Amino acid sequence: MSRSDYIDRSNDISCQRAGELIPGYLNRDLRPRDMRCLLKHLRTCTRCREELETNFMIQTTIQYMNTDINGSMDLKQLFRDDLRQQEEALIRSHRTRGTLICIAIVTLILLTLTVMDITGLFHITVFFDRIF
Ligand SMILES: [Zn+2]
Repeated sequence: MSRSDYIDRSNDISCQRAGELIPGYLNRDLRPRDMRCLLKHLRTCTRCREELETNFMIQTTIQYMNTDINGSMDLKQLFRDDLRQQEEALIRSHRTRGTLICIAIVTLILLTLTVMDITGLFHITVFFDRIF
């Protein structure tokens, strides 16, 4: 599944809701589901994207003023990079969760078979003997 599909399959949210989520984006404390909805909204809504971009630039500028970094900074580029990083982080955590769910299911099946074998409800060894 591509990065694009995963984000696009998220729920639609209103501009008002997107506005409420923007501070969370900047503070890095959005829940993954909210982040996903916001990122999807920003793909199609220029107004909200610009609002986030402006806030991001203000925040970044303040951070740079407080640190002592020389040289130029491309705020627009920083913003684009940040958006992309947020998407990638979201996809990574989604994939990890999928893998964990698969492992949990396989473990559960094996446990069930073991318990059934122990209790005599279903003998795995007999079952395999019949097949092979
Ligand atoms: Zn909007």
